Amino acid sequence: MQNIYDLSYTDLENYFLEKGNKKYKGQQVFEWLYRKRVSSFEEMTNLKKEVITSLKEEFEIRTIKITKIEKDTDVRKYLFLLKDNEKIEAVLMNHLYGNSLCISTQVGCNMGCKFCESGRLKKVRNLEVHEMIEQILLVEEECGKRISHVVVMGIGEPFDNYDHLVKFIEIINHPKGIELGSRHITVSTCGVVPKIKEFMNLPYQVNLAISLHAPNNEIRNQIMPINHAYPIEVLMNTLQEYIKKTNRRVTFEYILLDRINDTEECAKELAQLVKGMNCYINLIPYNETNNISYKRTKSFNITRFYDILKKNKINVTIRREYGSNISAACGQLRSKKED
Ligand code: SAH
Repeated sequence: MQNIYDLSYTDLENYFLEKGNKKYKGQQVFEWLYRKRVSSFEEMTNLKKEVITSLKEEFEIRTIKITKIEKDTDVRKYLFLLKDNEKIEAVLMNHLYGNSLCISTQVGCNMGCKFCESGRLKKVRNLEVHEMIEQILLVEEECGKRISHVVVMGIGEPFDNYDHLVKFIEIINHPKGIELGSRHITVSTCGVVPKIKEFMNLPYQVNLAISLHAPNNEIRNQIMPINHAYPIEVLMNTLQEYIKKTNRRVTFEYILLDRINDTEECAKELAQLVKGMNCYINLIPYNETNNISYKRTKSFNITRFYDILKKNKINVTIRREYGSNISAACGQLRSKKED
């Protein structure tokens, strides 16, 4: 059965038109779902009984459940159970500027980045559009706050579930619904070049973050298998194209791994690589995990790395850390299979 949250605004209008009904019914249903936030068709009280009955016959509505919440200062990690008993996670972060939700796009991930816990579980399946939307709806209901920012950086590679990702963005961005501004949405990819090319042609001003993590192919090949398919020079050329086309700044995420990618030479090489580009670099202290032997760069060396980039006039920040006490930090999601 199709899920109602898989339908965009236009899909809903067309659904009613095809039924010989009025187009504006689509808007009414969309508003019930995303403005009034009902969780059943019966609550859509301005619709005729027959309409409610046919919606109920043709569509399912809520399908996922929160089964566990772990809390830490300014952060909550939600574990969700999906209809087929798979599990995913989302992480809510309270910032001064608002509440940001990091959502998952797949069950498991096939990208195989060596440092990432999420990738140790192979991809089981893509999430459906409604499963991405439900993460937002359920968390807002649970915490009683409005989510102002969505970061697509949870479990999975969003560009390996591209069509669902784009529809998800279209729905949450729609002015008659949740109305999340596209500048408040960030998609992070390990560098799936053909999809970056498609993404730059979308009509949305969504932020793009790239998991770079190395200044050259030699190191990147070791830690990120995707680099064999799309080496750094190909990725960088594509990003130059992206910046030219969208006039938008790109964010590079760079995890600092002790003695792997954190040397002075690496910092200089990285500065050289991005020099003159409309971008900024987010340095991420690595979150160590039990199953992976990489170590976090010592804080002294994090500062050294940062200083070299600064000296080269690169926009750079060190990411504030959230949630490492509850394994909610980047790369730590859904790694405990016993959950
Ligand atoms: N697949 C997408 C989005 C999910 S990963 C991507 O690769 O961008 C989100 C970010 O967390 C990525 O930059 C990823 O490389 C990083 N990450 C993975 N494991 C980490 C860890 N143990 N510590 C810190 N960051 C990590």
